[in-house]
Amino acid sequence: MPMYQETLVILKPDALERNLIGVIIKYCEDAGLEVLDMRYCKKVGLERLKKHYPDSMALSIGKKAQAAVPSITDPEAHGVKVLEKLRGYFSRGPVLAIRVGGDDAIKEVRRVTGYTDPATAEKGTIRGDLGLDSIERSTAEGRAVENLVHASGNPEEAEAELRLWLP
Ligand code: GDP
Ligand code: MG
Repeated sequence: MPMYQETLVILKPDALERNLIGVIIKYCEDAGLEVLDMRYCKKVGLERLKKHYPDSMALSIGKKAQAAVPSITDPEAHGVKVLEKLRGYFSRGPVLAIRVGGDDAIKEVRRVTGYTDPATAEKGTIRGDLGLDSIERSTAEGRAVENLVHASGNPEEAEAELRLWLP
């Protein structure tokens, strides 16, 4: 039985720089999801970013990096560096936070978003079709990977992130 849910999508600065707001929302709408609310954030502050991407994410990010770049030897230390770059990426320009609702919305939005690394994200997904970056390249250049969108990963994240971005 599908369950009605609400989740958070954030269009990251590269999405707005590339004028992809309409295109990305269409991926969600075409998947049967509905836009319920949105907020344009001209410049996201560090305090909010530390709540959205807390220090505790370092290890999981480092492990993702290691999966794409096996020469990384200390995933936790690498993740700490990526997290800092990630907060910089997220605050370099405006972002758009969107409340999306629908049947199994959390899983559906993640499916439409595709995998973190645009180089290996499935075709037919936002990151797979529109992403230009890769974890390999961003790692070599000491950046966070630019992948256009954030989407809540599970019900706990969705609830906390909706409260943080669209109270
Ligand atoms: P998501 O849920 O697919 O967005 O991925 P995570 O929550 O694990 O990571 C948050 C964000 O950090 C991602 O969307 C990327 O922008 C960035 N990121 C995650 N993992 C890596 C990585 O291994 N290398 C780099 N360079 N950036 C990463
Ligand atoms: Mg995530």
